[in-house]
Amino acid sequence: MKSSELFANARQLMPGGVSSPVRAIEPYPFYTSYANGSHLFTVDGYDLIDCCLAYGPLILGHTHPAIKKAIKAQLESGWLYGTPVPIEPEFANIITADHPGMGMVRFVSSGSESTMAAIRLARGFTQKRDIVKIEGGFHGAHDAVLVKAGSGATTLGIPDSAGVLADVVAHTRQIPYNDPEVLESLLSKNSDVAAMIIEPVLGNIGPVLPEKNYLQEIRSITQSYDVLLIFDEVITGYRLGIGGAQVKYGVKPDLTTLGKIIGGGLPIGAFLGRREIMDLVAPAGPVYQAGTFSGNPLSLAAGIATVRWLHDHRHVYNKLEEKTRTIEENLSDRGKGSFVRLGSMFKYFFRNTPPRNYCEVKECDTLSFQRFWIRMLEAGIFLPPSQFETNFLSVAHTDQDIETIITAYNSCR
Ligand SMILES: *Cc1c(COP(=O)(O)O)cnc(C)c1O
Repeated sequence: MKSSELFANARQLMPGGVSSPVRAIEPYPFYTSYANGSHLFTVDGYDLIDCCLAYGPLILGHTHPAIKKAIKAQLESGWLYGTPVPIEPEFANIITADHPGMGMVRFVSSGSESTMAAIRLARGFTQKRDIVKIEGGFHGAHDAVLVKAGSGATTLGIPDSAGVLADVVAHTRQIPYNDPEVLESLLSKNSDVAAMIIEPVLGNIGPVLPEKNYLQEIRSITQSYDVLLIFDEVITGYRLGIGGAQVKYGVKPDLTTLGKIIGGGLPIGAFLGRREIMDLVAPAGPVYQAGTFSGNPLSLAAGIATVRWLHDHRHVYNKLEEKTRTIEENLSDRGKGSFVRLGSMFKYFFRNTPPRNYCEVKECDTLSFQRFWIRMLEAGIFLPPSQFETNFLSVAHTDQDIETIITAYNSCR
């Protein structure tokens, strides 16, 4: 069946025809039949260079042999036991060592779950109620963080979800990114803030980059008001390097949430923190958190294979950075847009200057983006179907792929 037919049927059976909102491309999304390396192959017979990479997890590209081998080996021994498995402490050891100051980790099944638990934990630890979040920051699809959220919520223009109680959201304070003074002023007036949650580099409307010393400043402000700092590194963890943004920028949060890359393409999430905070998590402490699929052996096997591979090939981070630099340096002209990149994260914003925050991101010319996106698809390149999502490269993208991307960029804008 063709994509158009599959979607027509799916629309009758599933809300919007999809399992997650960003995938609902108009007039219909393409359906994928298989993937390999940096390429997706659609049921309609197209071969596309993938710069979406499942929205972040696939830093090694599709069907990487090291991950495939790990999954196959685990399959032979079973894929769900409901008991601890030896690779849990092994993976915990690697992840905590990679994030200095994060002494303990709890594995969960998605990024959403990890931020939900981290927020509960912060409230349990501080005995305070409010949280501060960044406008345009996306931390998954649960109530506390579905206010002015990035990702699909911004794309579809529904940054505030129906069904979320005003009473709940009243405890979520929004502040603009890259503005430490607003944070300082808020905390000086509100002594009931348990935590600030932030994507250190805004990924779900970006990349929007932190200005010089911004992350250091919010660290010292939160510290001085006894507010826990949660770095949501679900995208940036192992994407910006081993240890993510916190190591890259040299800032130590109190709690960290991870997901995406650490599952190697299978569902996973994790939250990490200082030992004295993590000791409050059940069954060690009174903050409840649990999950049937938490620490499932298949996700752990894929994740540990990915992280080990990255440890053994640290130089790939420089190579990835070179690739996005090559794209930038070969843009024929900036037109009326701006190209932003950080490591293997990049995007062309239809806006004169790189946006500093959510407000500026929303000024982008989304109609021009739509036209550009379709032309790129016709040129054989799959970008995330939104002006607001980050584009990614993987280690599987070849020099030939990069050349094709550059040519397309120059003819499609
Ligand atoms: C993707 C994402 C999440 C949610 O993770 P899921 O696995 O989709 O639940 C949370 N925070 C950030 C920063 C993300 O990019």
